[in-house]
Amino acid sequence: MLNNPRSHGLWEHSATPARETEALEAAVVADVAIVGGGFTGQSAALHLAQRGMTAVVLEAVEIGFGGAGRNVGLINGGMWVMPDDIPGVLGTKYGERCLGLLSDAPTLVRRIIEEEGISCEIEKNGTLHLAVGSQGLKELEERHRQWTARGAPLQLLDAEEARRRTGSPAYAGALFDPRAGTLQPLSYVRGLAAAAMDAGAQVFTRSPVVSYERQGDGWQVTTPRGSVTARWVIVATDAYSTGPWQAVREEQVHLPYFNLATKPLSSNLRKSILANCEGCWDTKEILSSFRMDQRGRLIFGSVGALRNTGNAIHQAWARRSLKRLFPQLAEVEFEFAWFGQIGMTSDAVPRFHKYEDNMVGFSGYNGRGIAPGTAFGRVLASYVCGEINDDDLPLPVTEVRPQTLRIAKEGFYELGAQIAHLAGARI
Ligand SMILES: Cc1cc2nc3c(=O)[nH]c(=O)nc-3n(C[C@H](O)[C@H](O)[C@H](O)COP(=O)(O)OP(=O)(O)OC[C@H]3O[C@@H](n4cnc5c(N)ncnc54)[C@H](O)[C@@H]3O)c2cc1C
Repeated sequence: MLNNPRSHGLWEHSATPARETEALEAAVVADVAIVGGGFTGQSAALHLAQRGMTAVVLEAVEIGFGGAGRNVGLINGGMWVMPDDIPGVLGTKYGERCLGLLSDAPTLVRRIIEEEGISCEIEKNGTLHLAVGSQGLKELEERHRQWTARGAPLQLLDAEEARRRTGSPAYAGALFDPRAGTLQPLSYVRGLAAAAMDAGAQVFTRSPVVSYERQGDGWQVTTPRGSVTARWVIVATDAYSTGPWQAVREEQVHLPYFNLATKPLSSNLRKSILANCEGCWDTKEILSSFRMDQRGRLIFGSVGALRNTGNAIHQAWARRSLKRLFPQLAEVEFEFAWFGQIGMTSDAVPRFHKYEDNMVGFSGYNGRGIAPGTAFGRVLASYVCGEINDDDLPLPVTEVRPQTLRIAKEGFYELGAQIAHLAGARI
């Protein structure tokens, strides 16, 4: 992609090659212009093309340049927010509908991967939400209660079982989610784009949308050397939004998150650490995550940006933490290091906006975008085709509301992570 190891790290190194794409250099007419080539945009393109609509994706940089190509690769069901709290935020109708959609979203991801033959290191062995201390365990017990009341097949594991599965003695228990799993996120988004192209969509890269204007009953969106005229525009730019949709950016506080990948572990270590390749994260406020890739590299992440003073602080902390979590790791050497920005909304719930007539989009996934982006992309295709209307959406239509003290909060996140990691105030 950009050959910048700090942006896409291991994923750029190990991803399946992207289908060849070009910059838009013509005036094109389509049914739908899709702005942004991440999970949401490519899923919308695939599902529109499958419905016989002409869809054109305009990506500012490369496929997966945003969160899609930088993330941990956990295919989660649901949201961060406790299930029982969602109806309180969204109302009962939208809350339960959204929970249902996102609970099933990992299955949708698996199905698309299978149907489209996407090669993306998918592991279907679930995820483990790991309890740190008795407080963490209490939180997981409550999550377990709320999900099982909704029929979700989650299992609460004790400390011994958590140790057996992770290879770490550090946790008081775990919540196992068999719906979930892991994948190589850049390979997945590239595969989605290739599937969309095979179904008839056009994908242009190095084509940032810089402006839009009314054209008949639709819109003309303009890039530096071309334009697309379409009845509908889907805005799928989320935390990496540039150009005319600054409002998307202003509604979110960006949480920096980094990942470090070790060299492939020896076969003995692989047997003792995540032998089943579950994806993991913990209950700490400044959380950590870890998972394996298919070559046996342990990928460890947490809050923080690998730049300026943060780079040395976060990497030193990660080395210490890994040794503490997995005493069997004698030496920890990182082969890849990268980071990105997670778009957080004020209530940790995503948004659906109508920016103008026939200009719509989902955003603000709060660190959960693989399964939600795929599912919301499909919803957008149904909505644009008239199969569903506002009343059938998984989220209510809301106005864009800029967050107050956004820049201060972003500074606070990074500073807070550096202080926590410097102090080593971790398990
Ligand atoms: C470090 C990190 C770890 C994460 N871990 C996970 C995880 O384990 N599991 C999970 O589910 N989610 C995770 N996420 C969140 C997930 O990556 C995002 O929610 C997801 O990528 C959002 O998908 P998207 O398609 O909406 O947006 P993105 O993937 O961000 O794509 C938006 C695209 O729009 C393009 N764009 C912006 N402006 C314009 C413009 N004007 N014209 C044209 N193109 C434009 C950008 O270049 C970008 O490629 C993580 C995110 C980060 C950063």
